[in-house]
Amino acid sequence: MQLIDSFGRTVNYVRLSVTDRCDLRCVYCMAEEMTFLPRQDVLSIEEFTSLGRAFVELGVTKLRITGGEPLVRRGTIELLQNLGQLPGLKELCLTTNGTHLPQYARAIRDAGVKRINISLDSLKPERFHQLTRFGDLNQVLAGIKSAQAAGLKIKLNCVALKHYNADEVPALVQFALDEGLDISFIEEMPLGKINDHGRAAEYVSSDELRNQLSRGYQLLPLENSHADAGPSRYWQVDGFNSRIGFISPHSHNFCGSCNRVRVTATGRLLLCLGNEHSVDLRKQLRAENYSETALRDQIISSMQLKPEKHFFNLNEEPQIVRFMNMTGG
Ligand code: SAM
Ligand code: SF4
Repeated sequence: MQLIDSFGRTVNYVRLSVTDRCDLRCVYCMAEEMTFLPRQDVLSIEEFTSLGRAFVELGVTKLRITGGEPLVRRGTIELLQNLGQLPGLKELCLTTNGTHLPQYARAIRDAGVKRINISLDSLKPERFHQLTRFGDLNQVLAGIKSAQAAGLKIKLNCVALKHYNADEVPALVQFALDEGLDISFIEEMPLGKINDHGRAAEYVSSDELRNQLSRGYQLLPLENSHADAGPSRYWQVDGFNSRIGFISPHSHNFCGSCNRVRVTATGRLLLCLGNEHSVDLRKQLRAENYSETALRDQIISSMQLKPEKHFFNLNEEPQIVRFMNMTGG
């Protein structure tokens, strides 16, 4: 069984956003004042487990738990444990801001997770605090250490903003090389209306970052080593294992090889990060006559709604009003 959309793309990767809440307020992700979802609107751990099972039965081989911050939700570890047991699932991953890893890294590994993404936008405490509005860099560095000690493979994610942290890209790469971690730099996407900065004014392309890096490092391009490498394009520095990735939604459209869909905390299946095409899976999950077959059928038919590509325009009001914490990055 495989999920195939109307453009012939196979969907084998699903991201589940288990909460819209977070203990940080990154300036590119959220507005300063946010209204979060009432709890009854958010899917239960059982409902997320049923969804995960349905997707895997439909040929999905990779699930990622994200948010919001997934580790602020009680029950996330239980969900990972449930999903980790699904026959047919090849990869169970997590994206986190790292603040709760000292507490949970071992439990995450024991649930069957091998790889995690940790967001890290600066190595300067004050700047980190400013970018996250109240984050403590030391907490995240301790989280990275705990994840390493638990044997988890780590990729750092950094959203590069021209006047905030773009100058730190070489330092972040050096940190990744020293610690033996992968790192990806992401072009900011216009998701949700923020007041902190103009998205166009902060835009810095992946090519600019790579040029900056090539003054200090000899970067060697890597062929996409995984079938599911997705939107990242990777480079390596001679003598180091770390992969240096660039996710370039503006400068290098990656929609042609898109293999993923997302489910929001309310059970809305989003067929594309940059479009509103979606179906309400919660209705199906909470229907009186709920059946696994009906849920699977709805997922299969939803594939026909997956758009060909996203169109982002940084100079206009955001077309997509939902914030990244809703979308599940
Ligand atoms: N809280 C977790 C974290 O920060 O890793 C998981 C959720 S967060 C929404 C997932 C990823 O989306 C993070 O790497 C974050 O940097 C990225 N992100 C958030 N808003 C973004 C935006 N507007 N453009 C590009 N990436 C964004
Ligand atoms: Fe929270 Fe992650 Fe969004 Fe930052 S990027 S505010 S850590 S959900």
